[in-house]
Amino acid sequence: MTDLIAAPAPVRVPVRSPAGATFPVRRIFCVGRNFADHAREMGAAMPDPATRGHPVLFCKPADALVNDGAVPYPSGTSELHHEVELVVAIGRDAPDGVLDPAAAGALVLAYGVGLDLTRRDLQAAAKAKGLPWDTGKAFDHSAPISELVPAGEAGALSGRALSLRVNGELRQRGLLDDLVWSVPEILHEISRLFALKAGDLVFMGTPAGVAALQPGDRFTAALEGVVEFSGKILPR
Ligand code: MN
Repeated sequence: MTDLIAAPAPVRVPVRSPAGATFPVRRIFCVGRNFADHAREMGAAMPDPATRGHPVLFCKPADALVNDGAVPYPSGTSELHHEVELVVAIGRDAPDGVLDPAAAGALVLAYGVGLDLTRRDLQAAAKAKGLPWDTGKAFDHSAPISELVPAGEAGALSGRALSLRVNGELRQRGLLDDLVWSVPEILHEISRLFALKAGDLVFMGTPAGVAALQPGDRFTAALEGVVEFSGKILPR
């Protein structure tokens, strides 16, 4: 058998330790409306823990990742929004069937912080017509990400905060305790619909404060006390 074209190399994200290690990426799952304050600012009903139903899930291609912080301003939009998010790296294949939340933690290899960049104007137009979000969410360079930190080094997520500064100004900050669906709960929910595999990343949703980025903006995203990274929106 001969490939008719060159097989693309997997996208890899650097890992803090062991030194020089990388995480080859398979897929990127993303969670929408996973902080009540952000759901509210987007005009959606606040997910009530008692009646929350199931989370909004969507995907980005693995090659949307940006490892060096250099983000080209995307075509086709005049409203590029930032969403700072916890990123979970899956280190082994889930067993067949629906994953018990109590067993989900064993799949987590590492954590990072990333931006779910969004063409908000295109996403809003798609939402209004009941159409898919792909052009608003799954575009090239739409997922800048930090290095990944092994879960054992990151420690417990409880009490930790996510934050995003743009040109030195605090734009977003939220406590991971305020997630509507926790990491084990989200892995359980994904497993109802997809077979989670080693190499998958999960972007866990953003707190309030989403806003526009402009060419030339510099940003710093942090999972406070664990990892942060800085980058820049390149000129058009
Ligand atoms: Mn998001």
